[in-house]
Amino acid sequence: MVILNINRLKNALAHIYMDGVGKKDVQHMYRLFKNESPNNATSFNPNMLADTLHLSREQLFNIIVRGLVHELLEMHWVVNCHHCAAIVNGVRALQELSDANYCQRCQVRFDNFADHNIIVELSLHPQILNRSEPHKAGNRHDYQHDNRPPLTALELSGYPQFREK
Ligand SMILES: [Zn+2]
Repeated sequence: MVILNINRLKNALAHIYMDGVGKKDVQHMYRLFKNESPNNATSFNPNMLADTLHLSREQLFNIIVRGLVHELLEMHWVVNCHHCAAIVNGVRALQELSDANYCQRCQVRFDNFADHNIIVELSLHPQILNRSEPHKAGNRHDYQHDNRPPLTALELSGYPQFREK
């Protein structure tokens, strides 16, 4: 069970607007998150935002960084098996990732490679989404059917403003 707090959503959006995110993008995000069934706003591919709002790479990264700073968004790092794409781990901070992973399905052990098997997943911040159960990264039900490319950890960590944060 997930409950969306509209006032907190508006408040966080007002903050990213004051921090330089375009008005049109902020309004679009408000409509998107307000109308989205809360279960979908719990985790999404960042490229869904880029697609829906017609954002450039630069604009998307800017929104992610501002969104994290102002508690609009929460980010998760998701590790998937490069043999079968199954999700094997999901954490809040890169430091929490173990060096090696194990895929039950392929019965194979593999290392983390930031360029392809660690991907970024976003959700609305827990101050906006009240969940009855803790968030589990990589739980996105449409994961295997999403035809947008994932955003890799390497792409995001290569963005200068992200490293400064
Ligand atoms: Zn596998």
